[in-house]
Amino acid sequence: MAAEIHPKPQARIPVLLGKIEAFQDVVSTAVIIPKEDGVITVSEDRTVRVWLKRDSGQYWPSIYHTLPAPCSCMSFNPETRRLSLGMDTGTVSEFILAEDYNKMTPSKNYQAHQGRVTVVLFVLEMEWVLSTGQDKNFTWHCSESGQRLGVYRTPAWVSGLQFDVETRHAFVGEHSGQVTILKLEQDRCSLVTTFKGHAGSVTALCWDPVQRVLFSGSSDHSIIMWDIGGCKGTAIELQGHNEKVQGLSCAPHTRQLISCSSDGGIVIWNMDVTRQETPEWQDSDSCQKCEQPFFWNFKQMWDSKKIGLRQHHCRKCGQAVCGKCSSKRSTIPLMGFEFEVRVCDPCHESITDEDRAPTATFHDSKHGILYMHFEPTRGWLLTSGTDKVIKLWDMTPVVS
Ligand SMILES: [Zn+2]
Ligand SMILES: [Zn+2]
Repeated sequence: MAAEIHPKPQARIPVLLGKIEAFQDVVSTAVIIPKEDGVITVSEDRTVRVWLKRDSGQYWPSIYHTLPAPCSCMSFNPETRRLSLGMDTGTVSEFILAEDYNKMTPSKNYQAHQGRVTVVLFVLEMEWVLSTGQDKNFTWHCSESGQRLGVYRTPAWVSGLQFDVETRHAFVGEHSGQVTILKLEQDRCSLVTTFKGHAGSVTALCWDPVQRVLFSGSSDHSIIMWDIGGCKGTAIELQGHNEKVQGLSCAPHTRQLISCSSDGGIVIWNMDVTRQETPEWQDSDSCQKCEQPFFWNFKQMWDSKKIGLRQHHCRKCGQAVCGKCSSKRSTIPLMGFEFEVRVCDPCHESITDEDRAPTATFHDSKHGILYMHFEPTRGWLLTSGTDKVIKLWDMTPVVS
């Protein structure tokens, strides 16, 4: 029988390139090595492994190193092949990987925290190692001298950290849901401002140094784009996940944002459109359309953020309306609502089909995502799942 020729699928979806399945425990953090067909993984079982793709098409470890304690976070700098690992003991351990990725050599230890290191970030341009820990300290060390340069006490545990080299601002995402912006000097740091927008903890942060916008993802399922460079102070909401956001990454060349959630959803957002801020919800004792009074204590519900009340606000104009005057639903993609939301009747009429054109695409990774890493030069995405599997995706069909 003649071999069947399958036509190339037309659908633009991420293509699964390979899987790594040899883990006893979930992989807490992993990165794709640029220019190598390789992956570095760190898992709860205290191992660091470097996986290289062999001629068989399978990934096999070229390095299998057991650490003295579980490792919770890492930062890999490809130019220097420097691997900074944040440990449960509070230490940040630094290793240099050999050029052929067959060996890792210990280089330094920083006694950075009391208790688990939650985020570590090596900044080559500054020769700084930034880290946050369960002790609620944000610290930075000089990677040349190994000396601690400074400490800043954060109000809550930190789950995300980004740094802008040009202006030396650190963006610190907290469990409380707020993002703190710090200005770092060599040995001093000052609080610039805090952003409050999430109803749940911040789970992911991504800084786009070109557009000068910060994205924060949260356990409240939402993503907020904070326009910092534009100085307009706008905050744009992106609602496209049904579960906790677990990872965010910018694709700088195509002005897209990639986000992942714990239910396995991968969303690719087009950020090359003019998006609109969602309106402030207005406070009223009666429906702003039909003037029927509301029979509840509005102020009290607002303060306690009761969901019942949220359902009575038009997402487009922000007016407080009764259920009768807001019976219809619509997507409002340019406001970030990729799912249908409540709108008042006049707003529903004003939204055209063109307005409803989605600005994002939705994909299913088919595993609960704990962690993601995007490598922009080849357009590859790594997802680490609750199923203890690492999946590698070619994103070029959707990120282009
Ligand atoms: Zn009404
Ligand atoms: Zn409205």
